[in-house]
Amino acid sequence: MSATWTNWAGTVTASPEVLRPRTPEALAETVRDAAARGRRVKPVGSSHSFTAVAQPADLQLSLEHLTGIVSADRETGRVRVLAGTPLRLLNQALDLLGLAMPNLGDIDAQTISGALSTGTHGTGATLPGLSAGIAGLRLVTPDGSSRWIDASDPELFGAARLGLGALGVITELELACLPAYRLRAVERPDSLDTVLPRIQELFDAHRHFEMYWFPGTRRVQTKANDLVDDSVDEPLAPWRRRLDDEFLSNTVFGAANRLLTGVPRAVLPFNEIAARVLTERTYTGPSHEVFCTPRTVRFLESEYAVPREAVADVLTDLAAWVERRREPVSFPVEVRVAAPDDIWLSTGYERANAYIAVHQYHRADHREYFAAFEDIAAAHAGRPHWGKMHRLGADELAGLYPRMTDFRAVRDRLDPDRVLANDYLTRVLGA
Ligand SMILES: Cc1cc2nc3c(=O)[nH]c(=O)nc-3n(C[C@H](O)[C@H](O)[C@H](O)COP(=O)(O)OP(=O)(O)OC[C@H]3O[C@@H](n4cnc5c(N)ncnc54)[C@H](O)[C@@H]3O)c2cc1C
Repeated sequence: MSATWTNWAGTVTASPEVLRPRTPEALAETVRDAAARGRRVKPVGSSHSFTAVAQPADLQLSLEHLTGIVSADRETGRVRVLAGTPLRLLNQALDLLGLAMPNLGDIDAQTISGALSTGTHGTGATLPGLSAGIAGLRLVTPDGSSRWIDASDPELFGAARLGLGALGVITELELACLPAYRLRAVERPDSLDTVLPRIQELFDAHRHFEMYWFPGTRRVQTKANDLVDDSVDEPLAPWRRRLDDEFLSNTVFGAANRLLTGVPRAVLPFNEIAARVLTERTYTGPSHEVFCTPRTVRFLESEYAVPREAVADVLTDLAAWVERRREPVSFPVEVRVAAPDDIWLSTGYERANAYIAVHQYHRADHREYFAAFEDIAAAHAGRPHWGKMHRLGADELAGLYPRMTDFRAVRDRLDPDRVLANDYLTRVLGA
């Protein structure tokens, strides 16, 4: 049978039967019925995970009809949202309500429950990953029961806020939002040799700080986002946004990557040029517009969280490896930071991290580069993003997550028959 499902990167495929319940009650019945028939069910969001975490082994459960805001309290910032809501819609709806997510990653194509289930994060030394903003959630387990989980049950709350889809199907979430805020973004070219010695200071100096390093060069582009007063309005001219974000970052970059696939030795010199094209720019906008940019060039990605003090060592070792090998890596390396949290399977569990993400064009060979990166991250107790490519298995991951045994016990309790399992979950959590 030909594949009917594939993830965004095109690296994982499947041929599931798709179920599209229209209400949370119908979803619970669908799950219970499937479990009773011995079928496997996989809730799937926007399929933006690079790993096979969302690969449906049998039945694909789509939450495309379970979207939208259920209730919002502008005083407390508490917002209840249906689990299939895409972030793009959520951000727009929150904006209309005068609210916003405390932080976001760099795209808004994911569903809210898909993003939270793999530990999606943005950047900001005082800001943990997005799952830390969950005040409560409704979980449907394979027996068809539906329970509300919040801080009053620390065990389930510790596990279910980042559950990899292994504990049940989330149908609704309560999010702790902030009053809508505006950010000023300052993007500027710099050098790795200037930024690395100051990176801890830069992490702490801004609400959000991130850096892109162009492999094979010493060039970086930094992006610092800070709060500005509502009255400040310095939008990016539409032509500049189209030129930088659409034309240069996507159209030209995509065309260059297609051409360079056949000429690997031209890739690193090209990075010199690509880095030079990016110039300084400052603009302000509503937070979600400043965080998220379109990504139309397909790539593969691996990302590890390492203790934030280790970030300079990891980048130095990675730069030395690329230089030694002259490895044709055509995508920049992204560097971010996040605060610790108390979520059992969060990369930020009780640890302030720097996040280092390596990318490679989807048609180029990523294997040696990613393997070398993983070796470097492993030397610093790196924890891989659950939705991005990595080779770790259950035993290694248990050594990185102090509450892994507890998470597995919750899984045994909620899904003893592994109705929600797929090969990836078996690999990372055990059978
Ligand atoms: C271009 C691109 C940019 C990205 N940028 C970032 C970034 O800036 N920061 C970052 O941290 N990550 C980033 N990611 C990774 C992405 O945020 C995660 O992989 C995320 O999980 C994808 O969300 P999704 O809706 O596509 O979920 P899917 O990939 O479809 O599913 C992910 C997991 O969620 C589970 N799931 C989905 N819905 C439910 C539900 N209702 N109940 C229970 N479980 C459910 C699935 O079973 C699966 O285990 C990026 C990915 C891409 C492709």
